[in-house]
Amino acid sequence: MQNKTQHDAILGKLVSLRQGYAQKLSDKISEIDAAHERLLKGNWNQHQAAVLHGLLHKLAGAAGTFGFLEIGQSARNGEAVLKDFVDGITEPDSRQKELLAEHVARIKESYEQSSLDSTDLKIEVPAYHNITDGDTDVDNRLIFLLEDDVALANELVTYLAYYGYHTRHFECIGNFKQALEKVEPVAVISDIMLPDGNATEILENIQSDRAKPLPVIFITILEDMLTRLHAVRSGGVAYFRKPVDPTKVVDTLDSLVSRKDNEPNRVLIVEDSISLSDFYSFILKQAGMETLVVNDPMMVMQPLEEFRPDLILMDLYMPGCSGLDLAKIIRQQDTFHSIPIVYLSVETNTEIQMKAMRPGGDEFLTKPIKPGHLVSSVNSRVRRARILRSFMVRDSLTGLFNHTLTREYLYRELEQARRRNGLLSFAMIDIDNFKSVNDNYGHTVGDQVIRIVAKLINQRMRKTDIIGRYGGEEFAIIMPDTSAETATSILDELRHNFSQIPHQYGDIEFTVTISCGVAEFPACQSAATLSETADQALYEAKNRGRNQVVKAERNSDLLHQEQR
Ligand code: GH3
Ligand code: MG
Ligand code: MG
Ligand code: MG
Repeated sequence: MQNKTQHDAILGKLVSLRQGYAQKLSDKISEIDAAHERLLKGNWNQHQAAVLHGLLHKLAGAAGTFGFLEIGQSARNGEAVLKDFVDGITEPDSRQKELLAEHVARIKESYEQSSLDSTDLKIEVPAYHNITDGDTDVDNRLIFLLEDDVALANELVTYLAYYGYHTRHFECIGNFKQALEKVEPVAVISDIMLPDGNATEILENIQSDRAKPLPVIFITILEDMLTRLHAVRSGGVAYFRKPVDPTKVVDTLDSLVSRKDNEPNRVLIVEDSISLSDFYSFILKQAGMETLVVNDPMMVMQPLEEFRPDLILMDLYMPGCSGLDLAKIIRQQDTFHSIPIVYLSVETNTEIQMKAMRPGGDEFLTKPIKPGHLVSSVNSRVRRARILRSFMVRDSLTGLFNHTLTREYLYRELEQARRRNGLLSFAMIDIDNFKSVNDNYGHTVGDQVIRIVAKLINQRMRKTDIIGRYGGEEFAIIMPDTSAETATSILDELRHNFSQIPHQYGDIEFTVTISCGVAEFPACQSAATLSETADQALYEAKNRGRNQVVKAERNSDLLHQEQR
């Protein structure tokens, strides 16, 4: 958690954001005063009432957020008086008109009384977990294995090594406990019955002294309910009966240390008020997120495409295009059909809130919003959306992107590379003689091999690479900012590693190989040419005898095609 210096730094930044807003506040209030004067002189002309209403509405949203709570409240009150008139329902009576004048006067008064250099800041200073001071001393590939069956343990250690995990093996609880005092693994894989005791009992003790539980994967021959209960209580996140399927263990480990979950939330902020958007952006960044601000709602499309947010934080009332209309437009595009939209508005009328949710809003947060509340709403929405999205766009066998989405990413990444004058490599991978794997060992074993290829690719590629299951036993990889030479050498290492992995069918052990074709932008200019060229290179790799990577040469035929 944050220390005193961090707290002061956040406070300092909030004060300066507030001062920036305060400087503009005087103009805003004069504007309101003038609009009120015009309304009185113009004998309650409806258009002038609407102008004043609009100004009060904006003030109500922003003032409170920056700690000017009374100003915000008076603005809200004034706005409420004008509401029915602006909506064409009734003109305010003389009492209500007096009230409006009082609210406007209160706004001016509160402003004059507020101390602007502000040590009496009324903004909540959020207590954030700073991402840089997390568990940095934890080796996030280190696994502790507690297992007295040495043969099984060795098999697991070897298998886990293929997936980049290093495992320390202990045959008894005593040694395990001692080691745990010195280093911290990301996870424990544990048998239950050991020569010096029952692992669930010891682990239950260990966990009770810890702030954050250590994830444990149990592997055991026991199956009774009581053992399962103890396993859960002692930090068990998974429970596998022996004989253990090592791929399942790796799956679980991967999900525990998943790089996807560690990616910061990306939030697009669409808000016409620059002060407010700066404020939200600062708060969310402070919580470890990445943000992009769009102040003009009409300009939202390109940033949306390029920034690929996990969530859109959107003001409801903006000049030119309301949040409601904008949500409809965004939702009409397949890629953004499921992106969560969270509205931020001073609107407290639940009917209007409901209406805003219908075209696809997910949540309604009322301004002024507390920083802590904003952060937690965004976090929980993003987490859920990522899970739901992974169901829709990911292939169920491998968890990789499906064909359609991979194609979409290829178009998008290609455009970005073009704009940046960058490089991009595209690779196609195909499992060799896969039909015979199915024929010899059955479809289930075949599926297993597909999963292993997927997993290995996933682990060897960078965070920015996009990996798809392109067809049955075919995979595609998009590698931005990577030359075909580099891509080829990475893939060749991958190919070699895969060829070393032993697969099991009963007592039979066998190995499988893959072939790969690589094409490159700018040598290939379009998505179609890229994938055709990579496909030809793959075909060439098969022709030359399989188990190899072929880099497409830029030949004149292809060049000729490009120019046409
Ligand atoms: P090559 O080296 O030329 O690629 O030979 P191959 O046998 O791998 O190629 P072929 O295209 O003839 O066969 C691919 C086989 O992959 C046929 C199909 O039954 C099998 N296959 C496709 N999708 C799946 C899947 O999801 N699971 C399993 N088990 N098999 C699949
Ligand atoms: Mg607005
Ligand atoms: Mg094939
Ligand atoms: Mg094949």
